Amino acid sequence: MIVGYKYIGMRAIVLARRDFRENDQVITVYTTERGKLDLVARGIKKIIAKNSAHLEPFSFVDIDITIGKEADYVTKVHPVDFFVPIRSDLNKSLMSQYLLSLVSKLLNVGEEDKRIFDLLISWFRFVNSTEFSGVILLDAFVMQFFALLGFQPALEACVVCDRSYKSMMKADIKGKHKPGFYFSGGGLVCEDCKLQKRSIGEQIIDCGLREVSDMQMLLQADWRTVVEFAMEDSTYQKLHKLVYEFVVYHSEKEIGDWEFRF
Ligand SMILES: [Zn+2]
Repeated sequence: MIVGYKYIGMRAIVLARRDFRENDQVITVYTTERGKLDLVARGIKKIIAKNSAHLEPFSFVDIDITIGKEADYVTKVHPVDFFVPIRSDLNKSLMSQYLLSLVSKLLNVGEEDKRIFDLLISWFRFVNSTEFSGVILLDAFVMQFFALLGFQPALEACVVCDRSYKSMMKADIKGKHKPGFYFSGGGLVCEDCKLQKRSIGEQIIDCGLREVSDMQMLLQADWRTVVEFAMEDSTYQKLHKLVYEFVVYHSEKEIGDWEFRF
């Protein structure tokens, strides 16, 4: 990277900000072109800078960045969307903050993926525009985010013997077929493979076929469909538990359960 080089008008979403030295702050952003970046904003506390308000977490901005020797600097900020309806709704704000801390924790500086940027923006735009503030929106985001990180579970057939989901459904009359979720194997396993793998000490959690199809929905549906998807509370609890265990398994960092926060 060339010192003094300027990026003009880079699209970014603010993930976090923290104090740095006496008058400066470090702003963590996710950008279209360079992924996650830590940027120094100078003099942000000294002057009641008009830039300052735009650098709140989950602000969507255009920023100019100057590459420095020791750090990169924000030199200009232009607001694109401040997501005011989210900020005025406590539940939505908490969900958004949780989401950003998760994203910030799991991404490394400099890793770029335009799809992650698009996923973030589409989620914030949707949450900003809907009346709904249920935590299933976080479950859906988390599944789609993990899929982009390379952890897309295989749910259409047993990952060991390839028996199809449909064939398991046929055997499931009266809830007789008891499949499992095999994290290190990458997804769904039929009952026979579950028992066989367990007997050699592999870790597999029990799950119903309903949760598996609901998880598929979270992975593939747009946000509106997720919101409109009718689900009883007990069904949702099972789905959430599966999503959470999936995330914990694939995260190297400690992740708190988001369901108890809202
Ligand atoms: Zn199998």
